[in-house]
Amino acid sequence: MIVYPQLGKAQFLRGNQIKLPQLGWLEYVKSREIPDGFIVKQARIVRKASGYFVMLTLECDINVPSPVSSGHPVGLDLGLDKFAATSDGLLIERPRFLNSLHRKLKLLQRRLKHKQKGSNNRHKLNRKIARLHQRISDTRKDWHFKLAHKLCDDIGMMFVEDIDFRTWAKGMLGKHTLDAGFGQFIEILKWVCWKRGVYFEKVNKDYTSQVCPQCDTHTGKKELKDRIHSCLECGYTTHRDVAAAQVIRNRGVSALGRSVEENACGDGLAGTGNSLVKSRKSRNKSGEARLQSAS
Ligand SMILES: [Zn+2]
Repeated sequence: MIVYPQLGKAQFLRGNQIKLPQLGWLEYVKSREIPDGFIVKQARIVRKASGYFVMLTLECDINVPSPVSSGHPVGLDLGLDKFAATSDGLLIERPRFLNSLHRKLKLLQRRLKHKQKGSNNRHKLNRKIARLHQRISDTRKDWHFKLAHKLCDDIGMMFVEDIDFRTWAKGMLGKHTLDAGFGQFIEILKWVCWKRGVYFEKVNKDYTSQVCPQCDTHTGKKELKDRIHSCLECGYTTHRDVAAAQVIRNRGVSALGRSVEENACGDGLAGTGNSLVKSRKSRNKSGEARLQSAS
């Protein structure tokens, strides 16, 4: 990967050509137009199995307010059995189409063992494996985007657990977690929420699966095989992941209530210092375009 952190003021874009230091004018396939009011700050050249890509980081100097906390609240629980569950009772299955691609990958990797080191056939097979890896990651990303958009339909606020997926992945659940790409999904979800005007916030992750969302009673640890939340105290019964998502939603909503109160009695001025309506000075946006030829 090559990064050009500062492209400077000189003209470096014309039509479908980009001028890069040391490389000169290059032709590329523009995947989308640069929107009005944006300037290009940075260019990154990334080599993928399917070719060379140039990613442009854009910036604009206007205030873009973050979505306000209002509307229907939804909590989201990510898991290993179901990919995700919402506090409204929606269960999202793990995508099946990745299974067949993974099977194909394993087959190719097995075949690689029988190929002689340094041989042309081995080289060809390696290229094929790299392309398949790329296809799997593209397919997964596409699914993440579609799911994020679906989750944003008809809601006003989205709450997720504040989990560091990098440390989570190191545990015994490692392989599955990495495979599901939870970290990437949360980043995509955050971005889609912002784009769709849905308020997004992370909440404390502790004991979300051990508390009753209806009466707040600590119900004790559930085993992985226990698929149902059933409260001995109030009798509330639902899917365990839905219960966890409802706890996450409740935490998000009550955290909002607290910061509204804090602000109200803070300096007495309504609207000032409100932590819920943050605004960002600049906004970054990434565009990706494929380089056609490197001359
Ligand atoms: Zn209960």
